Amino acid sequence: MNKIGAYIHIPFCKKKCPYCDFYSAAADDKAFGKYTDAICSRIYEYGRQLKREADTLYFGGGTPGLLGAERLCRIYNSAKDSFGLDNAEVTVEVNPEKKDIDFYKLRKCGFNRLSLGIQSANDNELALLGRLHSISDAAACIAEAKASGFENISLDLMIATPSQTKESLKRSIEFCVSNGAKHISAYILKIEQGTPYYNMRDSLSLVDEDEQADMYLYACEQLEKNGFSQYEISNFALPGYESRHNLKYWHDEEYIGIGPSAHSFIDGKRFYCERSFDKFYDGTVTPDGEGGSSEEYIMLGLRLSDGITNAGYRARFGSSIPERYITNAKKFNGTGLLYADDSSIRLTSRGFLVSNSLIAEILS
Ligand code: SF4
Repeated sequence: MNKIGAYIHIPFCKKKCPYCDFYSAAADDKAFGKYTDAICSRIYEYGRQLKREADTLYFGGGTPGLLGAERLCRIYNSAKDSFGLDNAEVTVEVNPEKKDIDFYKLRKCGFNRLSLGIQSANDNELALLGRLHSISDAAACIAEAKASGFENISLDLMIATPSQTKESLKRSIEFCVSNGAKHISAYILKIEQGTPYYNMRDSLSLVDEDEQADMYLYACEQLEKNGFSQYEISNFALPGYESRHNLKYWHDEEYIGIGPSAHSFIDGKRFYCERSFDKFYDGTVTPDGEGGSSEEYIMLGLRLSDGITNAGYRARFGSSIPERYITNAKKFNGTGLLYADDSSIRLTSRGFLVSNSLIAEILS
């Protein structure tokens, strides 16, 4: 049986960033303790129920680092008891604020990958994003992590943020490269309804869609120049440093998600915990239909630079990619948006910018 991925959602942040619509809240030590206890018991329940091994464990948020190394290690140990975690990739997201986490303890306990939300290497952009760290905090945090034995470090960047220019974006990329990042996630800022940024959108001097696209393609080009291959719409890695956990999502493989707002896909069923602490504490899980269909596999696979191939499709569904999808995709050959032949379809960076409509055309 294939190994699953395990995702733990830690829904706490010191302060809400004005553009963010992830599920998170402020909390104190007492709340961290209660939440850690609940996460550990939920992990043990799923371990007994699923009887599956996991080879990736990902702590996302929110700000998982806020829990502190001791609680994170307790959760890690519960996951190890329940899912084995042999040769697992174990990632924790940390904000590069003034050092408030013991990286050495984390590394010693079994964490082997760090994801740092640096977002920009320009202090004025960080201030406009409402971030609590400065770029020198980020550099100090990375140095501390490396000194504690973390070499697999992923850094997050944002594209098309207020006041960002191509030059400042280039500086941010160079910061990541010179600080030894092995993986970079670069997301275009999306203005989500219900966030403070949404209400302020007219005063933020944001670039229009064409300029956003231009900045994104510029980032792809600069990252490639520095040896980072784009392997997904927003993800770039040095060879061998692709995120094994996130690849499970895009390969339409199984995972268990624990915590409010976390989604799961196990035994052909999708389900999730609503964005509510109460629902999480009382164990309510909401079904979300069947998963793993051919369309879903194609939709997710086309987010990857490798796209979909007959070999991969056959291993999953026992036949080649349906002829009509190949025919639909081939119509776009020559546009620079994708490449399709008789046995594969893959989108280009330019194609990723319009991936939703391209995928809809392919699946029509
Ligand atoms: S961007 Fe990260 S740190 Fe900021 S509110 Fe969202 S989850 Fe918290």
